[in-house]
Amino acid sequence: MRKDALRRSLSRLHAWLLPWRCLLCGAAGAEGLDLCAACAAELPRNASCCARCALPLPTPAVLCGRCQRHAPPWAAAWAPFRYAWPLDRLERRYKFGGDLASGRTLAALWREAPRPIDLPQLILPVPLHARRLRERGYNQALELARPLAQAFGVPAQADALRRVRITAAQTELDALARRRNVRGAFALREGLALPAHVALLDDVLTTGATLAECARVLRRAGVARVDVWALARAPVPGGGR
Ligand SMILES: [Zn+2]
Ligand SMILES: [Zn+2]
Repeated sequence: MRKDALRRSLSRLHAWLLPWRCLLCGAAGAEGLDLCAACAAELPRNASCCARCALPLPTPAVLCGRCQRHAPPWAAAWAPFRYAWPLDRLERRYKFGGDLASGRTLAALWREAPRPIDLPQLILPVPLHARRLRERGYNQALELARPLAQAFGVPAQADALRRVRITAAQTELDALARRRNVRGAFALREGLALPAHVALLDDVLTTGATLAECARVLRRAGVARVDVWALARAPVPGGGR
């Protein structure tokens, strides 16, 4: 394909002008990636996990204890990495340090991960409140969604969901407080026609409170199937398996 040939040429030109450098150890990067082969091999892959919420499990394709007791309001989760060293370092640099090179690297890793069988018809990144977006300058979920949408040929829509009120940072809250914190925080744009199968996308899935609240909004609007996609699965605070 001509597009692939063009990408390879651009990649070679980039490597000559600006050699790929590993963001973690400074060694030469593997082609097309700001990570060396050794650091890339250390990334924690989430190969064996709960089919419903992507919590790491010793046996794949079964449900974790939490999902057996109380299933989340979405159909399936896709989180190809675990939120652990050294991926967490890149994610923190991207999310809190404004390091877009880390973001591009994370997006490239996600794009190359084994894909879900059932692709959605639309990808909706979890929105930031307008004020947070102004402070940060970018929505970390949207920037990860764009390359995936392009690779899968599935549209990503940034303005379908809106965050209608500012919420406290979820990282400082326990599971119950997180649910309360995001209740009623999201709304759909008026008059929007949504397809039957939508994937919500966020950078990290922790308790899933934010994604669950967004999923409820979509289900109420008549979306038949909502999946959740996250780059990385974090452990639930306080265990809870
Ligand atoms: Zn390295
Ligand atoms: Zn589960």
